[in-house]
This record gives sequence, C-alpha cells and structure tokens, in this order.
Amino acid sequence: MNYIPYGKQNISDQDIAAVVEVLQSDFITQGPKVPEFERAIALQCKQKDTAEQSFEPPHAVATNSATSALHISCLALGVEQGDLVWTSPISFVASSNCALYCGAKIDFIDIDLFTGNISNKKLADKLKQAEINNTLPKVIIVVHLAGQSCDMKEVYRLSERYGFSIIEDASHAIGARYNNEAVGCCQYSDITIFSFHPVKIITSAEGGMALTDNSTLAKKLRSLRSHGVTAVAEDMTEPSHGPWYYQQIALGFNYRMTELQAALGVSQTTRLHDFVAKRNELATIYDNAFKDSPLTPLTPSDSAYSAYHLYIVLLPVVDSELHKNMLVGLRAANIGAHVHYIPIHTQPYYQELGFKLGDFPNAEEYYQRAISLPLYPELSREEQSYIVKTLKSLL
Ligand SMILES: *Cc1c(COP(=O)(O)O)cnc(C)c1O
Repeated sequence: MNYIPYGKQNISDQDIAAVVEVLQSDFITQGPKVPEFERAIALQCKQKDTAEQSFEPPHAVATNSATSALHISCLALGVEQGDLVWTSPISFVASSNCALYCGAKIDFIDIDLFTGNISNKKLADKLKQAEINNTLPKVIIVVHLAGQSCDMKEVYRLSERYGFSIIEDASHAIGARYNNEAVGCCQYSDITIFSFHPVKIITSAEGGMALTDNSTLAKKLRSLRSHGVTAVAEDMTEPSHGPWYYQQIALGFNYRMTELQAALGVSQTTRLHDFVAKRNELATIYDNAFKDSPLTPLTPSDSAYSAYHLYIVLLPVVDSELHKNMLVGLRAANIGAHVHYIPIHTQPYYQELGFKLGDFPNAEEYYQRAISLPLYPELSREEQSYIVKTLKSLL
C-alpha cells in the first residue's frame, strides 16, 4: 500500500486553470480575486432568512493565513497588554499564540473528553471563579475540533452574563453547520476564522479568512490586514493632499492574500459542499467499522453537522505505551495516523509561562487516547478497509 497521509488537498483541472488565468492577468496581488473569494465564502456562511428577519451575508476579510486572521481578530476586539484570553488546550498552537502576539495573558478551558471541544460546564465554573478573582477574560477563542461546532448557544449566553467577546476558530469547520446554520454566520460570536491550509477542507495553499457581522470590526480587520493604511478620505485626519495620498492611522501588518491564492480558493469553494459530504460519508464508514470494537469515535452532537476535517478515535483506556505502539504501528504500515493535538499548555514555551502538567486533566487524558485516521475526499474504500484492518490488528 502506498503511503496514506492523514489529510490531503484535492486539486482539479479547474483549480489549475483558475490559477494560471490569474498569472496571465494584470493583477497577481490586490486585484479582483480576493474580493470574489471573500464574497463566495460570505455567501456560503449567510444565515437563513426567516419570516421575522432577513439576513445579510457576513463581512469577510481574507488573509495570508488563519494565524494572521486570529492575530488581527484579537487586535480588532481590543486585546492588549494586561488582558486575558482563554482558549482550548486541544488545538493547534496558533489558537493561543495570537493572544500572546498582542501582549495578553492566555489561559485554557479544559475539554470534554468525548467531543474534544471545551467543556461548557468547566467554562461556566471557571468564569464564576474568575469573576470572584477579578480575572475575567476579554476574549474567548473556541475551537471546533475536527469540524464539529462547540455548543455556541451556551458560550454566547455566558458571554452576555460575563461580558467577553467570542472568536470561533473554525479552521476545521468550514462547511459545517450548527443548529442548521452555517458555521461562520457569527450568530453566536463576534468573529469566525477559517484556514485554507492544504490539509484543511478547502485550500488556497496558505490562507485564512475572518468573518463578522459587525461592520466596525470588519473595517478594523481590513485596516490591520494592510498596514493600517487608508486611502479613503473620510477616514483621514485632514483633507486628502490629492489622488496619491494615503494615511497610516493604525499599526497594521502585511497579512494580505495574493490573487493566486484567492483564485484557487474561489475554484475550491465550488466543491466545498461535495468535499464535506464526502468526508461525512467516509466518517460513517469508519463509525460502522468501529461499532463492535473498543475504539470510541468522538461523540457527535445533535445540534452540529461536522465538516469532518479530522476523524479521531479514542482508545478505551489511558495506556501511553499502547497509544504509542498503535501510532508507530500504523506509520510502519504506511498509514499517516496522527495526534490532534498535543495539549498546548504542555509545550515547552507554555511551560515557561507557568503552565504545569496536571493543569487540564481531560486534555492530558485525551492526548494519551486520541488517534487521527486518514480522511480526505479521495481516500478509497480499499485504503479505508486497509486502515481499519491494520488498526484492529494493533489493538
Ligand atoms: C490550521 C489551524 C490553524 C492555523 O491555520 P493557518 O492557516 O495554518 O495559519 C489555527 N487553528 C487551528 C485549530 C488549526 O487547525
């Protein structure tokens, strides 16, 4: 069997033609493709109109990575030195690094072992304690692990009670739904972030996007993405000197996405729903294959339709020797099994900040039990059977 990675992009002839077309055009950056990509993603995140209310699509701001989008989202929400930001310890380090970039202090909310998402019970308890200690967070970054939304209604309810802002790190969850609305509509959050790294659901090679239904936040995000510079007269502190004039009114960055990336992103977006449907189909095959085994797939939530960025199973017990042997065994069999994630607070850099082993016990237990299996649209039935058979033989 050839090597089977845990995730892989799907590139079509249409994708290639779209990128080539941009290369032959006048703009390879700062042209029409980035706004077109933003519009395509915003439309797919639009909340459904009801009898009482009609909704506009959210604002969408493309960046050169989800990490950049997380950084400027924290800044747009006013995160600065002395502030506290909370996130999940079971995520990629970018979910918490973004707060450190702003000089803020980070803390973590322990997870629910069986969904891998933050535990709302632990969140509620931690907020109660933080209110007493006067250490309430300014922003909470929830992470929709593997593509399944957190229980956002409850997080939103708590945000109204305790006054924090919410960023959804939906790097895994484009194309997912929560309560039948697209993740990214921002019904229960201030900003939602997507990643278009090649292992994610759709790709622009590198790339990210921030969505928000708040026009003030959208304007700040656009400014921070491009140096904090404006050419719009009404945003300037004095009358424009002329058509060449611009002003820097904030300290921003160059976090722009290129036209090549956006063209790939636009083309990929046309297949988003097919990709997610296919991932769900493959996940169901895994689910059925593990029904009579001691392995437990992450628990699906009734209110969420997962985008299945990852397919994760938990071992029945904490047995780090078995866990290691299984991962090594799978890799020896050419199966790129992985672990998502090493708890962030156990990373050396975070230990230097004062976090200790034992701080977030569920996250630590999860790490010793979780295995991510290959999942991507082109995974064949034959490869999937081989993965299941190999995995069972290692138990
Ligand atoms: C991939 C990922 C990121 C970072 O995305 P980039 O686009 O690579 O910067 C952030 N958070 C989570 C949860 C991710 O999986």
